[in-house]
Amino acid sequence: MPGDILIIDCAATNRIILKVKLLTAQYRVRPCSNVAEAKVEIAASLPDLILMDIGTDTEAIMAFCQSLKAQEDTSLIPIIATGGFSTPQERVTALEAGADDVLTKPFDDHILQARIRSMLRARDARQELRMREGTRTALGFAEACSDFTAPSTVVIATMDGKATGDGLDLENCQVSSVAIERLTSGTERNTAADLFVVDFRLGLPDDTILFRLLSELRSRSKTRHSSILALLSSNTRQAAAMALDLGANDIVTSPVADDEIRHRCRVLLQAKHEAAALRRTVETGLEAAITDPLTGLFNRRYALPHLARLSEQSRKTGRQFAIMALDLDHFKGINDTYGHKAGDEVLRQVALRLQGNLRAVDLLARIGGEEFLVAIPNSDVVHARTAAERLCKLIGDTPFFVGEDGTELSITMSVGVSLNSGPQTDDEEADLEELVNAADLALYAAKSGGRNMVSLSAA
Ligand code: GH3
Ligand code: MG
Ligand code: MG
Repeated sequence: MPGDILIIDCAATNRIILKVKLLTAQYRVRPCSNVAEAKVEIAASLPDLILMDIGTDTEAIMAFCQSLKAQEDTSLIPIIATGGFSTPQERVTALEAGADDVLTKPFDDHILQARIRSMLRARDARQELRMREGTRTALGFAEACSDFTAPSTVVIATMDGKATGDGLDLENCQVSSVAIERLTSGTERNTAADLFVVDFRLGLPDDTILFRLLSELRSRSKTRHSSILALLSSNTRQAAAMALDLGANDIVTSPVADDEIRHRCRVLLQAKHEAAALRRTVETGLEAAITDPLTGLFNRRYALPHLARLSEQSRKTGRQFAIMALDLDHFKGINDTYGHKAGDEVLRQVALRLQGNLRAVDLLARIGGEEFLVAIPNSDVVHARTAAERLCKLIGDTPFFVGEDGTELSITMSVGVSLNSGPQTDDEEADLEELVNAADLALYAAKSGGRNMVSLSAA
């Protein structure tokens, strides 16, 4: 089921015609003749999109549109306002009331359908990002993103590279213009912008120019997330519908008022920045999910799949890798004597020392309170033992200084080492588990052997 569409139109014939068209396109359709009926339907279940005719009872419909956008649970529902719109200003008023698009009657079916598809796609993308952001917040990662207020860049692309009229007078925006040919030929490969306004109002010599431009902008990493607004002449209806499916975020056909273009630009820029901010926090969230907040080292969640990759690589190359289980000795005593804060400080300093003594290819993770894990690719017994003893001395031979008064603490660490020796069984996962257990057993041996020492797994 592609979506649930609510129609508000006081004319029965309009409702029936629209319903038939949308049913053919597989949408679920709920027709309403006025705002009161629509409210009942929305309370029963939220639609995916609303098509509202603002021809009659304009004021009530506009107020309703505004209230939907103001409420959190309905604010993301895309709204298309349809009507006669005798003046360009009427379209702007509907957009300013919160309509995501306005279609002047009679409108082209292809454009309506393409517009619905494009709006549902954009809404799905926003919902997806918000959901991931929600999960991230629920997991306790950092603050939600703040509003984006940096200036925006806008590029106006035209056939001859010259922006028509005075260009776009947008607040806090740096506007430049470029010839479309330069974007599609790759001459302007590095051109990036928050928003591209592709202006074909003076005519589109050939539809493929528009399609090539859209696929070029959508495929380049620098412009993949840019917003795109296509301005088209009124005789390019077929191209307009296609443009939305090919990745234009918004289209408008002339005649169109400058105010409307500016309004659409502002909405597109805001959507672009909101999506970028959400993406950034989701990415930071992913980083947070695999990082230990106290030391900044990788955590267990990252370490285990990393070991699996090492093991896979080792099976391919036939070269051994080493796993070390490191555990601070009598650490509980440090906390008990000097306090938890001092204990934390020691953990941070231990992490720094270890990190400074390992190579970038080695993995260092904090996998428990005062337990660390090191994995060293392409190793052998001699190399692994030497490395483990070096780390052991690195902690035990030099004291730590913590707190404001620089209290001196002596800390020691025990290390258990195991090395894989080729495939043991067909089960790679079981082999790896065995290897980790072997390092743990070796660690216990080091503890019972007197601590502050390295023990090698017998396996
Ligand atoms: P052993 O030599 O046998 O390893 O003795 P231990 O005291 O180090 O081991 P034990 O497992 O009994 O205690 C570990 C202590 O590590 C318990 C806890 O107070 C401390 N610890 C665990 N996580 C943290 C942490 O994040 N910060 C601080 N300050 N202490 C921690
Ligand atoms: Mg421990
Ligand atoms: Mg310990």
